[in-house]
Amino acid sequence: MLICIVADAGYDISDIKAVGIGCPGTIDNVKGVVVYSNNIKMDHVPLVDEFRKYIDIPINLENDANAAAYGEYIANGNGVNSYIFMTLGTGVGSGIIIKGKIYRGFNCAGAEIGHSSIVMDGKTCTCGKRGCLECYASVTALIEQTEKKMKECPDSLMNEWASTHGKVSGRTAFECARAGDKAAREVKAQYIRLYWHTCHLKY
Ligand SMILES: [Zn+2]
Repeated sequence: MLICIVADAGYDISDIKAVGIGCPGTIDNVKGVVVYSNNIKMDHVPLVDEFRKYIDIPINLENDANAAAYGEYIANGNGVNSYIFMTLGTGVGSGIIIKGKIYRGFNCAGAEIGHSSIVMDGKTCTCGKRGCLECYASVTALIEQTEKKMKECPDSLMNEWASTHGKVSGRTAFECARAGDKAAREVKAQYIRLYWHTCHLKY
């Protein structure tokens, strides 16, 4: 598969000088191991060794949010070299850059902000804890909140939007809110309120 992807891009496998892997979860980048990933279910998987069976060149494994945070530093740093970067997707990822270097923290999990509890006895997270930020602020959570409101409000524009686009997505509530739909505005307001609340937590 790796060779097919490289060939489709118009390159030969010998053109590839190094591999970078961004993977969600707790990553031991020295050993090249995914220590734990709750969203794609990996437990102590030696991912770099697996890749090396197919291609024997330098391979670096990194948490995907760390990789995104570092990429942003290289591409758009604009002189800022210390910041926290957050990604909203299946979960809530984050990367911490301090003086141009990735901060990993204890057990390489120092930036797992998505698994900070923001709601006491809240929803059960895929990590096993309750009330984690990503249960409320991820795109997965936004879609759940949107679908719940669509069921409560069958006349909402969101139902028509979903049938036109063939699915509910993170855009549904925001686009329908912009078009003036009351139920969509409620979804958007609730989502933003939770996210704003989190951004003002003191760690
Ligand atoms: Zn969690």
